[in-house]
Amino acid sequence: MPTVNSVLGPLDIEDLGFTLMHEHIITASAGVTQNYPELLGANFMDRIVHGLTNAKKGGIDTIVDATTLDLGRDVTVLANVSRQTGINIIACTGWWCEAPFFFTNVSCEQLTKLFIREIMKGIAGTDIKAGIIKAASDAPGVTEWQETILRAAARAHLQTDVPIMLHSYSPGRIGEQQLAILKEEGVDPQRVKMDHSNDSTDMEYLTWLLEQGCYLGMDRYPGRGDASPIDRTKILKALIDAGYTDRLLLSHDYPLVQIIEESPAGTRPRKEREGLNPHGYMYIKKIVFPSLQEMGVPDSILSRLCTVGPRNFFNS
Ligand SMILES: [Zn+2]
Repeated sequence: MPTVNSVLGPLDIEDLGFTLMHEHIITASAGVTQNYPELLGANFMDRIVHGLTNAKKGGIDTIVDATTLDLGRDVTVLANVSRQTGINIIACTGWWCEAPFFFTNVSCEQLTKLFIREIMKGIAGTDIKAGIIKAASDAPGVTEWQETILRAAARAHLQTDVPIMLHSYSPGRIGEQQLAILKEEGVDPQRVKMDHSNDSTDMEYLTWLLEQGCYLGMDRYPGRGDASPIDRTKILKALIDAGYTDRLLLSHDYPLVQIIEESPAGTRPRKEREGLNPHGYMYIKKIVFPSLQEMGVPDSILSRLCTVGPRNFFNS
């Protein structure tokens, strides 16, 4: 039986169940949970356990945690909360957008070795292994550092067979540049998911990515300014109608816990975030699926979303 690395060890692909393919249990910066946990607010572990318990009760079985080292990844926390709540969590290796000050001359070969170690041996001295490799580029396009990361991600993928997720700025069609580099490295686009694709409503671009073989991360819900929540669902419906159901990977890109910024007006970010998405990891089930139903998507298709796609993605 094929397996994927979860934070509690190998997980049978058949046991992935209902899977959210791009979330963040904690979003911070490297080292915050170990050194400055008070920045995450009081009882942050309790809040995580509460959020994941609710998600599990609501029928969510697995979460891909897209938090790299530079976004504050702490796999010990992930393993603890997975054990406590029964939710499977898949951790990632790779990197997000920016090069740390002293990293600019770290070579692709060095990074490739680190990513492979995190997949084959474990992360941060534990035996908790990464199940996915992340690379990122945003509106300015693929920077020199990001190209190094992307090539290291490609090489780690080719040596381990662990798939790739790409943070991408879809309104600027940045996926074209990212995919070209991965193809140069010999990566089959079918092992790649292009994340934040539902920040774009450009059917021609999204269809092009699918035709290359990519999976699409329709993973910002309710999302921010680039597209309204209902526009995101309309483009999802259009892609379902075009026959791509099993390659659309849904998620929220929602942080259960992030750094609290205290300002003269009080503590701001959590309130703002909850105002935007009061349902957290349940938004798709509570808001998006009923909308799709109203638009005429049959239950036979709805039951494939978040189940068949993730299984195929990790299984190929
Ligand atoms: Zn994210």
